[in-house]
Amino acid sequence: MGQRGNEKVIIVENLTYAYPTSKDFVLKKVNFEVHRGEVLAILGPNGSGKSTLCKSLNGLVPHFYGGRYGGKVIIDGQEVLNTSVSQLATKVGLVFQDPEDQISGLALTVWEEVAFGLMMLGKPKEEIRQRVEEAIRYVGLEGLEKRSPFELSGGQMQRLAIATVLALRPEVIVMDEPTAQLDPIGKFEVLSVIEKLANEGSTIVIAEHEIEEVAYFADKALVLFNGEVIAYGPVREVLRKVDELKSIGIDPPSVTELAHAIKKELGLEAEYPITLEEAVKIYSELLGVS
Ligand code: ADP
Ligand code: MG
Repeated sequence: MGQRGNEKVIIVENLTYAYPTSKDFVLKKVNFEVHRGEVLAILGPNGSGKSTLCKSLNGLVPHFYGGRYGGKVIIDGQEVLNTSVSQLATKVGLVFQDPEDQISGLALTVWEEVAFGLMMLGKPKEEIRQRVEEAIRYVGLEGLEKRSPFELSGGQMQRLAIATVLALRPEVIVMDEPTAQLDPIGKFEVLSVIEKLANEGSTIVIAEHEIEEVAYFADKALVLFNGEVIAYGPVREVLRKVDELKSIGIDPPSVTELAHAIKKELGLEAEYPITLEEAVKIYSELLGVS
């Protein structure tokens, strides 16, 4: 967990990829970069390539899947194509959409599950103990150390999945629609942890199709459609493209849409808010109330 700076932790250059069975490329000349401490949201409808892009950051694409691969992905100075998935595991932690996919099934308890990756890396006992405790505390699972991972609620299980990743102290945390499988309470629990990570300077890439959930803590957004980047930049600039986003089935935050409608219907020029607080501020200034 570092400080925001000029250092580029992720550089993706003209990344082009097809699975062995794909007819067409599922990523087409994708370009972006993420600086240390930044949060990048990857947005796009189903099938646009978000998960594939996430897997290209931790090396599952192409090392595990094979296929046709072009361009470059550089993580913390190392090119993914020339780095093994296990070496990348300490640089990039990937949190899957469904926490059940992340849980090893080998550990009997929450504590062991978090320790598992560190044991595989052969870390000393005392270091493992410290890191496991820290990770469990961070995601708010203290008290549940002895519980079986399979007896947790969805939100607890996804927080456990995040803890297993945090224990490895990766440079980058990549999350692939981490709240998609959760009920509203689970979503809230997991988003609180993600927001804390973001505020404390972690470098995060988060794929999401519900923009509202991530817009307020993301720095940048990249919109994928059919494997192509159709918008990329500061999150506010990207979300201002309300009509373009809606045309590909992505709903901007409701306050952004409202601002867009007000501008269109009433011709009222105002900055587009992405949160309710911003909306209140922008419109009370505009209307001269405070
Ligand atoms: P998203 O996460 O945005 O829904 P994906 O990255 O899962 O998109 O999928 C992008 C495209 O790649 C889709 O057309 C999907 O069918 C295809 N795809 C995903 N996984 C595989 C795979 N393992 N083998 C072949 N095609 C795949
Ligand atoms: Mg996906």
